[in-house]
Amino acid sequence: MRVDIVSIFPEYFAPLDLSLIGRARANGTLRLAVHDLRIWTHDVHRTVDDTPYGGGPGMVMRPEPWGEALDALAPAEVTAPRLVVPAPTGAPFTQAMAHELAAEPHLLFACGRYEGIDQRVLDHAATRMPVTEVSLGDYVLFGGEVAVLVILEAVTRLLPGVLGNAGSLAEESHAHGLLEAPMYTKPATWRGLEVPEVLRSGDHGRIARWRRDEALTRTATRRPDMLAAMDPQRLDKRDVAA
Ligand code: SAM
Repeated sequence: MRVDIVSIFPEYFAPLDLSLIGRARANGTLRLAVHDLRIWTHDVHRTVDDTPYGGGPGMVMRPEPWGEALDALAPAEVTAPRLVVPAPTGAPFTQAMAHELAAEPHLLFACGRYEGIDQRVLDHAATRMPVTEVSLGDYVLFGGEVAVLVILEAVTRLLPGVLGNAGSLAEESHAHGLLEAPMYTKPATWRGLEVPEVLRSGDHGRIARWRRDEALTRTATRRPDMLAAMDPQRLDKRDVAA
């Protein structure tokens, strides 16, 4: 997968050299480049913002550098990338969206700052490439950089070969509309607290049933919205009994 990120703070992306994302970059699974938006400015102050039309506090990112950045990174003669713009006004980011983005050959992230990017940049881009505004949640960050780090981490771990054990993806929270059951490791007793007997029993059928029941209970308690949204076809008879 190819990924381009445009930001006025390219330094924010230093962690993308670490851990499994760093490895995915090193082995070519992820071809990632970070670009400083100010490359596409032409004045001595390398200005990227200005006051909002209509008045009000704060500054808005000017359209010209963004237009030039998108022209350079998504030239008309090649297949357009999907433009992903973090925004508190966007569609909520979910595991389903992470899967959708992981299937794209090329993602282009545009990191807003200040009061955001002039709307015409997105409107113009939408005439020549798919544009998705994505929200991390119902709160406001300083800028899109942290949101891109989150989105990219969720997307990269879905790319084939990135996780050592791809089975982890099938078992974890949000894979099947449920939260994952509690996990334990050695020692069997720690500070007087015991690992549940069933997990030490070696009985794989019982362990699977216990994990499923715990996942259902946890989801019902912590995220009843997820359980309510779950397709009843995904429940088995023993779930209903539980
Ligand atoms: N004026 C904007 C509003 O009220 O919708 C908020 C702008 S915010 C201070 C600056 C930038 O941070 C946004 O352009 C966006 O890139 C990013 N951002 C802030 N909150 C976000 C969120 N919840 N999800 C994704 N990106 C966010």
